[in-house]
Amino acid sequence: MPFAEPFIIQDEERLQSLRSLCLLDTPADPAFDRLTELAATILNVPVALVTLVDADRQFFKSQVGLSTPWAITRQTPLTHSFCQHVVAHAQPLVIEDARLHPLVYDNLAIIDLNVIAYAGIPMTTSSGHAIGSFCVIDHTPRQWTAHEIDILTRLAASVMTEVELRAEIRERQRVEQERESLLKRVTELEQLKSDMIRVAAHDLRTPLGIITGYAALLEDDNLSPSQLDFLQEISKAVYRMERMIRDILSLERIEAYAAGQQEDVCLKTLVQVAFEERHMQAQQKNQHYTLALSAAPVFVRGDGVQLREALENLIGNAIKYTAQEGCVSVRLTDAGRFEVEDTGYGIPDAQQELLFAPFFRVRTRETHEIEGTGLGLHLVKRIVERHGGVMIFRSEYGKGSTFGFELSVMSLSEDVV
Ligand code: ADP
Repeated sequence: MPFAEPFIIQDEERLQSLRSLCLLDTPADPAFDRLTELAATILNVPVALVTLVDADRQFFKSQVGLSTPWAITRQTPLTHSFCQHVVAHAQPLVIEDARLHPLVYDNLAIIDLNVIAYAGIPMTTSSGHAIGSFCVIDHTPRQWTAHEIDILTRLAASVMTEVELRAEIRERQRVEQERESLLKRVTELEQLKSDMIRVAAHDLRTPLGIITGYAALLEDDNLSPSQLDFLQEISKAVYRMERMIRDILSLERIEAYAAGQQEDVCLKTLVQVAFEERHMQAQQKNQHYTLALSAAPVFVRGDGVQLREALENLIGNAIKYTAQEGCVSVRLTDAGRFEVEDTGYGIPDAQQELLFAPFFRVRTRETHEIEGTGLGLHLVKRIVERHGGVMIFRSEYGKGSTFGFELSVMSLSEDVV
């Protein structure tokens, strides 16, 4: 019976499993050679093999004691394979004298490789596929003892540990490579997106400038009241677009320059400046506009321009989304906690989840006429995250909101420039 059950040897899944290990046709390897040498020495046999059984041949990943040409080609056709039977039955095969054994008596390995006694243990992957045999061969008849088979079984297990370890390392390398190439692709796409945004936003500014210029010229002409109304609508739309462009560019700038400037920034000064900046806006709405600053300077590490943008955004929103005569209180504690509390329109619970998503705008009866881009809060959140801080937010619809953030403050022992 020169060939074992072909349907098992040729099984596509088994072959796939074998080939995925990438051991076929690879050079000799000391890690496997050590185990075959050990088997040969301990069991006192002339030949020991790590055999991988392919569809139409057997390949010796490791061999001790084979004669030429087998020691050089490191493979034979299946006509010369005992190991195929180990694989086909997925069981140890122990043969005292091959010439008398019904399974292999006509196998060409008896004549060509002088295989007389044989003991092979299946090498099975964790997925349950027998891929080969770890075997020892003697050139004379031999009765294998249970102890010898036990040693062989243990060594076969070591071979499989080695095989699986390699597969794991290769898999990890593959995942790592995939991750790296994905990361590279994402970075490229990010860059492309940034470039496109920048170009588009810049290019939009020129035609907007032209519209504004000509609209201003038209105002000087003798226009009817309704024509003036139209003109005002045009100006408002242009203003809205300019704000959108500004916000998109701000966001782009923050995303592009991950860390931003890294300097020692006094948050107390920034809050004061941002508060003053918005004073007029609050005054126009006759709001109760107050500031409570920390006792001492509050130093944080980061980008002053970005942080000021975040502060102004939150203070501006509080004024914008609070009715005439309402209250807006701005606070900064010594611990680096900044808050703006207002008695404004508040945000319904159902709409709070998406609040910080780009372009999200709350829809309520009270605020639907207030203009905005829906980018401000997203911008603030990104700035705060980039500075390693956390956002503060709570709101009750109809009562008011508190927005803010907390940054870690530099301790006094740190050098402050
Ligand atoms: P914008 O104000 O340009 O629409 P933001 O991202 O700054 O964009 O704000 C998103 C939405 O969150 C706003 O549309 C507004 O409805 C709501 N919002 C922000 N701040 C407040 C606030 N202090 N009080 C009530 N609603 C607010």
